[in-house]
Amino acid sequence: MVANWKENPETEAEALGLFRKLAKIPRNRNTEIVICPPFVYLEKIAEEFKNLESRARLALGGQDIFWEKTGAFTGEIGPTMLRSLGAAYAIIGHSERRKFLRETDEMVNKKVVASLEAGLKVILCVGEPLAIRRQGFTAAKKFVRRQLAEDLRRTSHIKFQTSSSLVIAYEPIWAIGTGKNCPPFDAARMAAFIKLQARHLKPPVRVLYGGSVNSKNIADYLKNKEIGGALVGGASLNAAEFGRIIKAAGSR
Ligand code: PEP
Repeated sequence: MVANWKENPETEAEALGLFRKLAKIPRNRNTEIVICPPFVYLEKIAEEFKNLESRARLALGGQDIFWEKTGAFTGEIGPTMLRSLGAAYAIIGHSERRKFLRETDEMVNKKVVASLEAGLKVILCVGEPLAIRRQGFTAAKKFVRRQLAEDLRRTSHIKFQTSSSLVIAYEPIWAIGTGKNCPPFDAARMAAFIKLQARHLKPPVRVLYGGSVNSKNIADYLKNKEIGGALVGGASLNAAEFGRIIKAAGSR
């Protein structure tokens, strides 16, 4: 279960407060929680993380990563830098970055390869826009298949360390932050399709669903065995709500 805070909260004090609350949420033995704060808060949060009584099934992640480890790349953060802070994951290819920062599949692919090679676990986001979805489910599958083919180029040779080394989040763009839910049956069909497209990768990838997940709808997604968890944006900023989501995930 991934908490993507996006560009929130506004101050470091609030970020630390939120982290402390999320870290206290009881973790079921089947559920790993990955918290992805903005980069600027990561160092302080990583210190808190190291001092927690139990870090079992809790991890930190970045919301993005750059493909070079070091160099003249103003503003960028490399995979080794992120790992050296104690973060285990990076979200890559989120639709908001594809849209607002014009990230292309070629850039996403470079980030995926560099992260995996550096031992950083990857949460790769894919998903179709509304205009494609309106054309039907087959068009959506075609869109996602092309994204996967491009985003996962040059990954077959990489030996994944664990089954969570590469996690793919199916996030239909029209369902992100909109309150519009993708019908769980469609999300499960797409998750199965994604696993089929990534079947050459060993061990098999896990697929998450993301898009307006909350405590009321999470169980409907997780009852499908194809869906291994969720990428949660807005609802991860509310510790009580995220706690209810985690509780529901644990009892599936
Ligand atoms: C996301 O951040 O990827 C996301 C799915 O956001 P939200 O849960 O707010 O729709």
